[in-house]
Amino acid sequence: MNKILEIDMKNMVAIVQPGLINMDLQRAVEAVGLFYPPDPASQDYSTIGGNVSENAGGMRAAKYGITKDYVMATRAVLPNGDIIKAGKRTIKDVAGYNISGILIASEGTLAVLSEITLRLIPKPKMTKTAMGIFPTVNEAMEAVYKTMASGITPVAMEFLDNLTIRAVEQVHSKGLPVDAGALLVTDVDGNLEDDLDFQLAQIKKVFTENGCCEFRIAKDDKEAADIWFCTS
Ligand SMILES: Cc1cc2nc3c(=O)[nH]c(=O)nc-3n(C[C@H](O)[C@H](O)[C@H](O)COP(=O)(O)OP(=O)(O)OC[C@H]3O[C@@H](n4cnc5c(N)ncnc54)[C@H](O)[C@@H]3O)c2cc1C
Repeated sequence: MNKILEIDMKNMVAIVQPGLINMDLQRAVEAVGLFYPPDPASQDYSTIGGNVSENAGGMRAAKYGITKDYVMATRAVLPNGDIIKAGKRTIKDVAGYNISGILIASEGTLAVLSEITLRLIPKPKMTKTAMGIFPTVNEAMEAVYKTMASGITPVAMEFLDNLTIRAVEQVHSKGLPVDAGALLVTDVDGNLEDDLDFQLAQIKKVFTENGCCEFRIAKDDKEAADIWFCTS
């Protein structure tokens, strides 16, 4: 039960079987210009059925939310064998109890999910990655919430303390600043280069006002992948 049954471009939903691997769904919808944002760290092997049953979220949760924000409808088998269908593929079709909402995160205790309809969104055209180096953890933490409060919503904002920085550097030698108190790694996305540059300029401003001593923007995808590799 690992199939994509349908990608409905008009309603921007995917109807899938529960055994589908999260990353297989992401790749399939991105191939047609759409985007399924929930990205748990287990995305390469965890299933949509498992993600829904755990309400999984990942790095992109800050901007795009978690699994529950994408479940439009479910088909499930109850313990007595009855099959239920809850929800619809259209946004405004909301009459009745939110049964899918009860099934999400129920860890298989209520029913076995047999089909899931997931909301998709248009794929942002570009992403940029940056890293801020901070003298202390406290300054980095101040910078996180002040960035969110500044009106910029980064896709992700990941944190490494000094112990983690040194541990990663010891094993992988990625050139991380081993004397830094903390690192913040952030992604922004969108459709216009100018918009991404504006978001990064704002983040840099907030970071600098909160003690950031160096702000690096990845110059290409390889450098961005290298930076993210250090956090995972
Ligand atoms: C290395 C690692 C990293 C992780 N990172 C994250 C993360 O970043 N974010 C996050 O939120 N979680 C994370 N998790 C937890 C994991 O991603 C979630 O538990 C995942 O969504 C489970 O998917 P699975 O396919 O492995 O499900 P399983 O582990 O097989 O099942 C999980 C639960 O869902 C139930 N279930 C599965 N399929 C169905 C179905 N069809 N109907 C009803 N119930 C069902 C099972 O009975 C079980 O209770 C991580 C786990 C690991 C091991």
